[in-house]
Amino acid sequence: MSIYSINQQKIAADLSENQVHQSKWTDWHWQLRHSINRVDTFEKLLGIKLNDVERRKIELTLRKFPLSITPYYLSLIDTDDFRNDPIFRQAFPDPKELEIDKCDMSDPLAEDRDSPAPGITHRYPDRVLFHISNVCSMYCRHCTRKRKVGDTDSIPDRDQIRAGLDYIRGATEVRDVLLSGGDPLMLSDQYLDWVLTELRQIKHVQVIRIGSRMPVVLPYRITDGLVEMLKKHHPIWLNTHFNHPREITSSSKQALRKLADAGIPLGNQTVLLAGVNDCVRIVKSLVHKLVENRVRPYYLYQCDLSEGLSHFRTPVGKGIEIMEGLIGHTSGFSVPTYVIDAPGGGGKIPLTPNYLISLSTNKVVLRNYEGVITTYAEPESYKTKFCERQCTTCDLQLKLEGADDNNNATGIEQLLCDYDETISLTPAGNERMERRDGS
Ligand SMILES: *Cc1c(COP(=O)(O)O)cnc(C)c1O
Repeated sequence: MSIYSINQQKIAADLSENQVHQSKWTDWHWQLRHSINRVDTFEKLLGIKLNDVERRKIELTLRKFPLSITPYYLSLIDTDDFRNDPIFRQAFPDPKELEIDKCDMSDPLAEDRDSPAPGITHRYPDRVLFHISNVCSMYCRHCTRKRKVGDTDSIPDRDQIRAGLDYIRGATEVRDVLLSGGDPLMLSDQYLDWVLTELRQIKHVQVIRIGSRMPVVLPYRITDGLVEMLKKHHPIWLNTHFNHPREITSSSKQALRKLADAGIPLGNQTVLLAGVNDCVRIVKSLVHKLVENRVRPYYLYQCDLSEGLSHFRTPVGKGIEIMEGLIGHTSGFSVPTYVIDAPGGGGKIPLTPNYLISLSTNKVVLRNYEGVITTYAEPESYKTKFCERQCTTCDLQLKLEGADDNNNATGIEQLLCDYDETISLTPAGNERMERRDGS
């Protein structure tokens, strides 16, 4: 018998003092009602004992960052070596959370500053983050929104959600809405159905994405009723958050199967965490298990600079080392994009090992994953075209119906294009420029 099933029976029995029927264990409401948020319950259920000094420190940590874990996720902990257990480390408070590093910030991604309406973070031109829940079924110790955990444990009421919907309705450039939180699947099917129906009535919203950790920490939330409801609102995509291969259990596989069978493309966002998954073999095993269950590894995140996460952070070199061990060594669709979410709110910045060694006008020198150095000859016949964005007269057959009609390039794209006169980008407050303006 697996660790998981032994724990499951013991935990279920301890929680309600009687034998718990399987139908209760797999009822997500039962799981939420029996979420563990006290250290002593945690110890009792796992049959572990912390010393007094340790317990006091943990209690202190809990005052700032509360504890909550579902019985299901708790049951995945290997009690024989719980201190090194990846589930334990993601779920159980560590006094190191109270240590604040120089570089720590309470809102490193400036999600609050980039919020034009309640619950909305509008950072990229064509997509928004829409926070429709302030609650999660479990509190991840590495949460980037740690500052908010336990503050307002609520689902926003319809008026609050309407304000966000109004913003999206008015922002006609938004074609992709990412439902986030908290965990959006903490909403009832009925409430979520209402939000999705409202969003679907907005013409310019083409795609709706849901970000949820339920398949990992409470897979029983993925019920037949939920997927039947979601199916009505296609195209719906869902990104989840597996960090370790041990999280892929028969229950989570079943949840993923239901979602995939409902035609929902599944992605996964992993956070690189010291002591949990900072190892090429662990990440490789994780991505293989994900694709086996029809989940496409999407992002591998460098741990954010949120307060209380310093003990989870790895150097960026660890992420590059992991990418080096994946690219070429395994199927392309098993490889996530490694990103740093820019502190200050610049969005996600992709990082890869360097494959371009050098170039001339005739040749490019490259290396592959094996270290083989090769050359690629540049085409001799390519006619450089000057693009004025006169797409209607261009000989490339771009039928503009439904195409991106934004004519303004930004960033490096702006420097590269021919239809914009900009030749350099200068940071605001550049002294040399200020001297020029002043003279
Ligand atoms: C991550 C994120 C998105 C979505 O980014 P993608 O790269 O399209 O997945 C959108 N808005 C915000 C604020 C984000 O942090």
